[in-house]
Parts: sequence; C-alpha cells; structure tokens
Amino acid sequence: MSLTRMQIKELLDEGRKHDCDHYGPDVCVRIAAIADLPSRFGDFHVVAFYNNRDGKEHAAFVKGDACFGENVPVRLHSECLTGDAIGSLRCDCRDQLETALKAIGQMETGILLYLRQEGRGIGFTNKVRAYGLQDHGYDTVEANLALGFRDDEREYTVAAHMLESLKVKSIRLMTNNPRKIDGLTKHGVAVADRIPLIIPPNPHNRFYLETKAAKSGHLIDFAGKEHLLEQMDRPVVDGMTEAQIGALGDDS
Ligand SMILES: [Zn+2]
Ligand SMILES: [Zn+2]
Repeated sequence: MSLTRMQIKELLDEGRKHDCDHYGPDVCVRIAAIADLPSRFGDFHVVAFYNNRDGKEHAAFVKGDACFGENVPVRLHSECLTGDAIGSLRCDCRDQLETALKAIGQMETGILLYLRQEGRGIGFTNKVRAYGLQDHGYDTVEANLALGFRDDEREYTVAAHMLESLKVKSIRLMTNNPRKIDGLTKHGVAVADRIPLIIPPNPHNRFYLETKAAKSGHLIDFAGKEHLLEQMDRPVVDGMTEAQIGALGDDS
C-alpha cells in the first residue's frame, strides 16, 4: 500500500496552514510538497519540509503508507555532501545511507528522514575547513574545535516535528544506540522498538572492524588518521565482535 491521494492532500493541507511553538523558537518544519520518487532502492514518496524559522529544507523518504502508521521503521540521516553524493572515504555516511535505504526499500513501510545539517550543523564550508586542518597536521581535538560540536538536541527536535507532521503514531528506530531513543522520546515520539543497523563489510569500512577503533571511540583509517563522526550513531559492521559492538555507544 502506498499513500493515497486523499492522505497526501490531507498532509499538504495541514502543512500549508501549519505553525507551532512547542518545538522551541527555532524549529517549525511544515510540509511544503510531496511527490512520487521511484529509486534504485524501491518506490518512495519524497516529502519536502520547510523550516519557516531558519529557512532550512529537510526531506522525508516514505516507503509505502508509513504516514498515519504504527511501529514504522525510521532512520535519521544527517546530510553529508562529500560522503552521500561523492562517496568520500573520510566518513562512512554513504554506507550508512545506502544500508538504511536498502533495508527500508525492502520493507513494507518505513521512513528515512534526511536532515539538512551538514557537518554537524556548522555547514559545508566549515566542515571542509576542518578537513583541511586535519590535512595540515591538526590533531582531531583542534579540528574538532574548528568543526564545532554536534547539536544533538536540534537534530531530535527537527526529526520529532517531521514525524508528527507525517502523523506517524509510533516508530521502530533504526539505530545501534538505545540511548538515542531517549532524545526522540523526550520530544513526544513514541518509540516502540529498536532495529539495529548492520552494514555489510567492505574495504572502506574496514576501520570499523579494528578493535582499536571501537575501543578508543575513534575511527582510524588505513593511514592511521582519525575520522570525525558525522552521523549521530554508528553502524555495526557485520563481522564485529561483541566487545567491538559494545564499545560503539561508549562515548556518544
Ligand atoms: Zn511546527
Ligand atoms: Zn560524512
């Protein structure tokens, strides 16, 4: 079952007149447009959201009639231009995105929220500046300062609002970190369950499989350079030991 024309009309009509203040002064995302989106991962609807407070645009990719539903599988993904679109190996954002889309594409219903918070919300330019600093020998702490810290709270707020706008009754969050559930719950999202996100091993995510990477809470690439985390929770790579999996949530 896909979204019906009546359901789409209802979402659009409410989006048109929507305004609220219960997500704080910076966040009110309204549904602005909805269209079919066939993709290599399956048939989706794309829903365009517009934040009338800060002008940012966000997207939801909806499989089946996930809106209005219960126990809907949901994945949160933060925009990463270099990873998502170009396949950068400085992060594993694209692996995470593709794994989530493949999984949702095979499910009856599901939603991927694509949050336009590039570089942990500090924007593309600042992210590239931080990459540049690392290239020139800055350590991760210094580069981290340049990159700024992820504003987790904001990510949950936008996501919670989007789910409410989509009239989702309850979700099963695709995450490996049970604590992430609290962030959404705090904003009124009913999280019924958790679905682990497990990525198949490939040459590019080998660093996840290194014990050191998991234990130290850092991601180390083949050249010994540390990666900054860009997504809010880490995938499990198929083949990790129990100890490595257990160590993933330690510093998040
Ligand atoms: Zn609102
Ligand atoms: Zn990335």
